[in-house]
Amino acid sequence: MAKTRYAVALGSNRRGRHGAPADTIRAAARAIESRSLSRIRLTPALGPAGRSFANAVAIVESELDPAELLAILKATERSFGRRSGRRWGPRILDLDIILWSEGPFESTGLVVPHRAFRERRFVLQPLAEIAPAWRDPITGRTARQLLALHGKARG
Ligand code: AMP
Repeated sequence: MAKTRYAVALGSNRRGRHGAPADTIRAAARAIESRSLSRIRLTPALGPAGRSFANAVAIVESELDPAELLAILKATERSFGRRSGRRWGPRILDLDIILWSEGPFESTGLVVPHRAFRERRFVLQPLAEIAPAWRDPITGRTARQLLALHGKARG
């Protein structure tokens, strides 16, 4: 396949061997050879974990299809020390595929665009920062529009 483009969301809320969550995200962006990385934002924890998250979005260019890229992302999470466990528990590194330049993709549990990204400010903000004109193939809205809509929905 020719080079395609991905938006990958990075999250961390626990120190790992690369340091604090923000250091973990910078190291992970290098590990997945991302072409550009948004600013890193600190956001309050969603669940009972009780720690704030560091979040960012990176652009990755790759010849891999989404299932192949996900395998690399999972291997990267493991090499950073993440253990599977409680869904909302502390995580050294979480990597999700948000968008793919080739449109929707679905296979063995992997769904692209990511099912929840339109409701997550911590994804929409950095996405709108580095790829404001990228259009969600499901709603037809750009990242910038999705962020503006999200703001309205929350008042
Ligand atoms: P989590 O541990 O909460 O990040 O969930 C990871 C699991 O969600 C993976 O095993 C994937 O199979 C599944 N999944 C579904 N859609 C996506 C996506 N767009 N990006 C990453 N993982 C996904």
